[in-house]
Order: sequence, then C-alpha cells, then structure tokens
Amino acid sequence: MTDGAGNLKHLSLGEVHDLAFNCLVANGCDDANAQAVADNMTAAERDGSESHGLFRLPGYVASLQSGKADGKANPQAEDVAPGVVRVDARNGFAPLAFEAGRKPLVAKAKAQGIAVLGIVRTFHFAALWPEVEALAREGLVAFACTSTMPFAAPAGGSKALFGTDPVAFAWPRPDGHPVVVDMATTAMARGEVMLAAREGHDVPLGVGLDGDGQPTRDPKAILEDGVMLPFGGYKGSAISMMVELFAGALIGEVFSFQAGEADNRDGGPSRGGELILAIDPARMGGDGDGIALGEALFEKMLDAGAAPGAVRLPGDRRYGNREKTPRDGVAIPGALYDRILALVGGPA
Ligand code: NDP
Repeated sequence: MTDGAGNLKHLSLGEVHDLAFNCLVANGCDDANAQAVADNMTAAERDGSESHGLFRLPGYVASLQSGKADGKANPQAEDVAPGVVRVDARNGFAPLAFEAGRKPLVAKAKAQGIAVLGIVRTFHFAALWPEVEALAREGLVAFACTSTMPFAAPAGGSKALFGTDPVAFAWPRPDGHPVVVDMATTAMARGEVMLAAREGHDVPLGVGLDGDGQPTRDPKAILEDGVMLPFGGYKGSAISMMVELFAGALIGEVFSFQAGEADNRDGGPSRGGELILAIDPARMGGDGDGIALGEALFEKMLDAGAAPGAVRLPGDRRYGNREKTPRDGVAIPGALYDRILALVGGPA
C-alpha cells in the first residue's frame, strides 16, 4: 500500500519493471510479451512520459482479461519485398511485434537506403518514440505513425472519425542523443483532456467541440458527447488523414473509425496497424554526410531564442529525465499503485 501522505508511491526503475512484468504475467502474458511491454513502460517512466508508463497497465490488463489481446502472441515477420517487411502481430501488443520487425527493417534500410515496416493485427498502447529512437541509434532517420480510435473530427466536421493518430520522427546525431519528435495529431492528447475533466479545469478553445458541434473549453463536454479536434485546423487534419491512410489502408489494416466499431470497449487499446519508415543517410547520395549537416540547423535553432534555453530540441525533456530517474526513481499516484497491486493478484 502507499504511504498515505501526499499519496504518491516512490519506485525505483527496477521496481517499476518488476511491477509491470509480474502484473502482465499474472494476467495472461508469456514472458516474452511481458518483458517487451514492461521494458517499454519502464522506459516511459524513466523518461517522464508518465501517460505511457504504469498508467497504461490497467488498460493492457483489461484487454488481456477480456480476451481481446493475446498476451502469448508470437509475432511473425514476413519478407514481402526488397524494401518491405510486414509483421503480423497475431493480436499481440506492439512492443514485441516491433522487436520482430526491427532487425529485418534495419538490414533492408542499410542494404538499399530505405525500407518500410508495416505491423498489422496489433494493439498499440504506448508512445511512439521508442521505435524511432531505436532506429536512430542504428544511424537511421526514422518515421512512425499509428491510428487509434475515433476521437476527433476532421477540419470542418463535428463527427468523430480520426484517432489521436500520433506521428514520430527521429534524426541521429554524430554525438549525443538523436533528435526525436513524437506527438499526437490532435490539438491535445486525450489523456490531458481527461486530466482536465478530472481536475475541473478548462482546456483552450480549439481542443474540441461539444455535442452540438460548438467550440467549447469544457473538457467533460468534449469527452462525453463531443469530439476532439486535430491541431492546427485543416493542416493537422490533413496529417491525421495521412496517418489513417499510412497505418490503415496502405498496410491492409483498419481506420480508427473501423477499429472503434470492432472494439469491445474494455478500456484497453483497440486493434490496428503501425507504419515505420527507415532511411539510411549514408545511402542518400551527396557526400553521405547529411547527419553532420543537420547540426547546423540545430545550432541555429538553439541560438534563435531571446535568451539561452528559450529554444530546445524535441526529445531533450525526456533525455533530461533519463539522467535523473535511474538515481532518484519515479513517483506514481498511490491510487494507481494500489490498483496495480490488486491486478497482480490476477483476474478476479
Ligand atoms: P507533447 O505535445 O507533449 O510533445 C510533442 C513533441 O514536442 C515531443 O517530441 C516533445 O518533446 C516536443 N516538445 C514539447 N514541447 C516542446 C518545446 N517547448 N520545444 C521543443 N519541443 C517540444 O506530446 P503529445 O501530448 O502530443 O503526445 C504524447 C504521447 O502520446 C506521444 O508519445 C504519442 O506517441 C503518444 N500517443 C500514443 C497513442 C497511441 O495510440 N499509441 C495515441 C496518441 C498519442 P519532449 O518529449 O522532449 O517534451
């Protein structure tokens, strides 16, 4: 149980991993799946991506308990074409499916300059940065996207159609961590809107519409019978549409609206696809030194603020946390910790 005062539970990263692994195994995962998801969740806690850390564990468990996701799935990679790998996740979670496709994707990208991985029949309930950062650490420029559930209306509309549809991009650097961008294509992540509803504060205009299709600041009105909106009006809406096409139609998977129709609403992730693209900068022509050339842009960006530190590179917040949490551990809400302990007891 938690200490009561402040109602936070302090955990080392090792304890986070053990908690996640044991909970997943108790609820039907085999060791390989539990290990992959627990690694992913621990990395999220380590980097301060709390909304994709232990917070997600009850959702993973719900999808195991309802029988929607297969915790013992053995994902299969298929060599479809010289530049294409396909992984059939067999109704399993995305982290192990990515592991199955990662090596062939890297090998193909390095052999010919570019390759794409399509993961189908998977449940993606995580941040996207682990995929693209892993590829950038192999020296590759990477892009990834996945669709979700119908939460957002296209620009001009008021009916839920698109998911929160995240996109991620990573660029290796000659020294130091890759630059990694990872963002939902809705104006605000759904978890943030839920948090605002729970804490009783408004969200900015542009985040969503109420049930009458009117712009609202009320997060409850957005969540209960309204819709979320893509960021940046028709521009973000176009990027959400691209994600739906890339992670859906292009790889023979469902759109968010179809995932929503098929989902059993157990509170866990919905089934869908993920597309990952890898480009080898050394094979792009020129003098093969594109990665070094990128440094000039980053230098100018960091120098473009009114004061030092005003501009930062995407990913640097996470890397900052990564320095601290192996030493200091993390704190999670006590109620979440108690809920997970109950789940470690296994299905009721
Ligand atoms: P944020 O808006 O918090 O951040 C988006 C990106 O912008 C990050 O790369 C972040 O880097 C960067 N960034 C933020 N602030 C600044 C700044 N001031 N200067 C420079 N860069 C900045 O992310 P979202 O809320 O949109 O998404 C959160 C997560 O949710 C993502 O990991 C996404 O993959 C995940 N998600 C997953 C879904 C799924 O179904 N699996 C669905 C939807 C979202 P940094 O990390 O360093 O802050």
